[in-house]
Amino acid sequence: MLNLNQETPYDNVPLDDFKNTVLSCQQCELCHTRTNVVFGSGPIPCNLMIIGEGPGEQEDLQSLPFVGRSGKLLTKILEYVSINRDTDVFIANTVKCRPPNNRTPLQAEIDSCKPYLIRQIKLVKPKILLLLGSPSLKTILEETLTITKTRGKWYKTTVDYMPDALYIMPLFHPSYLLRNSSKEEGKPKWLTWQDMKKVKSVLRFYAPPPVQVDKIFLDT
Ligand code: URA
Repeated sequence: MLNLNQETPYDNVPLDDFKNTVLSCQQCELCHTRTNVVFGSGPIPCNLMIIGEGPGEQEDLQSLPFVGRSGKLLTKILEYVSINRDTDVFIANTVKCRPPNNRTPLQAEIDSCKPYLIRQIKLVKPKILLLLGSPSLKTILEETLTITKTRGKWYKTTVDYMPDALYIMPLFHPSYLLRNSSKEEGKPKWLTWQDMKKVKSVLRFYAPPPVQVDKIFLDT
């Protein structure tokens, strides 16, 4: 498991300056081929954080994560369990720049982006972290296991920003689900729906309690 409490060079850098540092990064070869850096999007802090692989073509053009075909499917997956992607989740990637032709990011590229990712997790302070695809699985869990073996299982780690453990779950990447689109029981899409129900039940635990109507009257 990656130590998420480790120091990074950005720990004392305020959010806006940190974001500008990431947006102008030149630390690896990907800076020569990218159009834009994709920092990530969503509220900070946020109970739920998703980490994908890296930007694709549309993400590189728009400087936003998961806005292409797999992003549209991700939005649907979240909506299935009433998670609003604009207000309820921070979405980031293992590497912030598009690898040429959407190839898998190289270890050197992942390593040079890792301090950014750790600092992002410290800023977002998620209670639940979802890992989409093998690069984020390998980076966070440092597991040699595959997504097929780990998906749907909860992993836990201690973090300095809260007393409770951080809950982490690997999931099939939406682009894999686009290639395996059967909804039949036991198939990847069906399994993902089951996994998302588990995610929702833990997330519900952290949701603020609904405001009671009689309490509103009493308070006014
Ligand atoms: N795939 C990813 O892993 N991340 C994106 O942002 C888009 C596609």
